[in-house]
Amino acid sequence: MSEVWLVFLYALATALATGLGAIPFAIVGTVSERFQAYAGAAAAGLMLGASFGLVAEGTGYGRGETLVGALAGVAFILVTQRLMGDREGHDVVFEAAQGEGARRMLLMVVVMTVHSFAEGVAVGVSFGGGLALATVITVAIALHNVPEGVAITAVLRPQGVPVWRCAGWSVFSSLPQPLMAVPAFLFVETFRTALPYGLGFAAGAMVFMVLVELLPEAYKQGDRAQVATIATLSTVAMVLVQQWL
Ligand SMILES: [Zn+2]
Repeated sequence: MSEVWLVFLYALATALATGLGAIPFAIVGTVSERFQAYAGAAAAGLMLGASFGLVAEGTGYGRGETLVGALAGVAFILVTQRLMGDREGHDVVFEAAQGEGARRMLLMVVVMTVHSFAEGVAVGVSFGGGLALATVITVAIALHNVPEGVAITAVLRPQGVPVWRCAGWSVFSSLPQPLMAVPAFLFVETFRTALPYGLGFAAGAMVFMVLVELLPEAYKQGDRAQVATIATLSTVAMVLVQQWL
């Protein structure tokens, strides 16, 4: 029983770490169009880098399963976009925004929240290896969550969402981690089978989201070469951080 609580508390700590990603944006005062472009490019790079990590981990459990999961992730975004009304003039409301901006924010929060389910399962499954391993993995996921909080805030903050609420949505997006870690820990074998599909799904959804939403918008708002440079560097940085962990 106490071990289950430990899994939950560890995974809850990783979720709270996501909120730290909003901190850099507390310093930036004005939200210019150029800043929006750079923030979007950085978010795109961080998500691409995180996706590489998810694919690498997923293929360790099963290559075909990871690919199938990725296809499902792409389908998920397409369906979600359709449900939210991909065309002009639909009144999706998120925070104080409406329309195009609200749609992108909502999609971002949905994608990042859904991808956390697979990571929660990964945490729970790996807890089977003992407390020392569990601690290492918890720290790794927590550190990986901080730039994801940056990515979420980079999309929400330019739309005028207050920094503290960006932090709140960042933590929210990681809540599936404590929720999924416990059942995955208790029923390791069942969840291990589903894990490559889940990790592939998370990666597919994130890469597609970057390509269909974040980068096109960033290119519209900012200089092409600068947007591409920021996206490239943040992708590489995220991959390096994950390898270092
Ligand atoms: Zn992640």
